[in-house]
Amino acid sequence: MWGRVTQQRGPWDMIIVGGGATGVGIAIDAASRGFEVLLLEQSDFGKGTSSRSTKLAHGGVRYLEKGDIGLVMEALKERGLLLRNAPHLVRDLAFIVPNYEWWEAPFYGLGLKLYQVLAGKYGFGKSRLLSREETLEHLPTLKPEGLRGGAIYYDGQFDDARLLIHMVFTAFEHGATLLNYAQVTGITNDSQDFVDGIVARDLETGEEFRARARVVINATGAFADALRQTADASSKPMIAPSQGIHLVFKPEFLPGNSAIMVPHTSDGRVLFAIPWHGHVLVGTTDTPVASATLEPVAMEEEIEFILTTAAEYLAKAPTRDDVLSMFAGIRPLVKAEGAVSTAALSRDHVIHIDKTGLMTICGGKWTTYRHMAEDCVDQAITLAQLPERLCVTRDLRIHGFPTESRPMDSLAVYGSDAEQINDLIQRNSSLGERLHPALPYAKAQVVWAVREEMARTVEDVLARRTRALFPNAAAALEMAPAVAEILAGELGWTERTKENQLSEFRAVARNYLPS
Ligand SMILES: Cc1cc2nc3c(=O)[nH]c(=O)nc-3n(C[C@H](O)[C@H](O)[C@H](O)COP(=O)(O)OP(=O)(O)OC[C@H]3O[C@@H](n4cnc5c(N)ncnc54)[C@H](O)[C@@H]3O)c2cc1C
Repeated sequence: MWGRVTQQRGPWDMIIVGGGATGVGIAIDAASRGFEVLLLEQSDFGKGTSSRSTKLAHGGVRYLEKGDIGLVMEALKERGLLLRNAPHLVRDLAFIVPNYEWWEAPFYGLGLKLYQVLAGKYGFGKSRLLSREETLEHLPTLKPEGLRGGAIYYDGQFDDARLLIHMVFTAFEHGATLLNYAQVTGITNDSQDFVDGIVARDLETGEEFRARARVVINATGAFADALRQTADASSKPMIAPSQGIHLVFKPEFLPGNSAIMVPHTSDGRVLFAIPWHGHVLVGTTDTPVASATLEPVAMEEEIEFILTTAAEYLAKAPTRDDVLSMFAGIRPLVKAEGAVSTAALSRDHVIHIDKTGLMTICGGKWTTYRHMAEDCVDQAITLAQLPERLCVTRDLRIHGFPTESRPMDSLAVYGSDAEQINDLIQRNSSLGERLHPALPYAKAQVVWAVREEMARTVEDVLARRTRALFPNAAAALEMAPAVAEILAGELGWTERTKENQLSEFRAVARNYLPS
């Protein structure tokens, strides 16, 4: 990647700041149209919100209730395209809305039928009403007292950080240059005060570098206002950051392959309990926060809220001692006049151009990243007077697209790359050893992450190349020394660097452990 940066002559067509779903999606779109693209991420790809979502490729049943039909239809279509272009990373999942009141079956039954109809040819499966017995067959741990039945519907589930890494590969294969640990610290202007480039710092060496571009795109999510103010101190904030957390439990709390969807919690949100990587993910909350941080921490009242709400629906109420991991993320919502809560803010995306020409894209959803990128690149072409070239991402396969059928084992999410990880094990059988008995990750995945997926730290490997930290924080902590040992060998770390890496990871992982 550095080779590509140093060889670049003249300005890039586009510089994208931010390596989450939005930024990497734009890099894929622009590079696949033939533009010269540089993307800079201050930390690791996906360190921001894009590794901390509920991991649903969905239209958003909740937005249907708000009458936001256009947003739902667009997201349902994107959900279908995602499954088509990344079948190794997205799967369909049954969701059940349990009914305890007489009116819930007709109300949700009808709503979910509409949800299915709106998906049209991109549909995932037929929704229908379930009897009480059928509901308990799907969800045996559901509270049986007062249960009348349920409504089943289908949506998509994915592994967010893993999809993102495959998207980075895809952008790279189309010619984009993407750097992690490269923080944009300044925006440069031409003689007419129009943005013409960036100043950035390589966080590994501390070196500063500059790059010029025809257009600079701010895709920094919840951090968008900070970058806008770097370019123009007078720019008015447009982000209303809102935190959401998830708690992770053992699979006993939700055995089987169906998820629970609670359409109305006491704070007016939707709560999901979802099987994910052999564990159960329960969330989320919607708590306004003053500003964005890279490593947000679950608040006490958020933890209590999820435990209390889960206890209303599960026969055995989960307690704090059952929490294996917890994680928080910040929604980059766009401010709206008169909104009473962040839950009421639109999830639609916004593209804003400041008077300096800095283009900012924020809001939206993981599910709609492709459409957001198409919209953004179309507008960037006009702004920078670049040659008109049509978007090609509707049918663009995401890296690892499996060309032949593969076993549904723990390497399935790697798609066609799984073969190469298996080759590593064949050449050196010790790489087949598991890193922890509670999680399915092998040493070969660490080697692959550092050689091929730009992992630079222990945290990159345990949080975003494998997902160990998210389902089981204690197990991830126990795996850390072995991971550091492999990274030290691959990257030539000194003993001191290895120890620093371990203590940095332990400091982060503490936030994922319930105290
Ligand atoms: C709790 C929660 C649950 C969600 N669940 C879902 C879901 O199930 N399905 C769905 O579709 N959507 C979901 N979303 C929404 C989705 O996760 C976000 O819309 C999406 O991840 C935002 O991506 P982004 O790239 O805009 O932001 P981010 O992922 O935050 O990326 C921005 C990046 O910019 C980088 N950056 C910031 N400043 C600089 C700088 N100066 N230089 C370089 N880099 C910089 C940051 O480090 C960060 O990595 C959820 C969101 C939350 C919070």
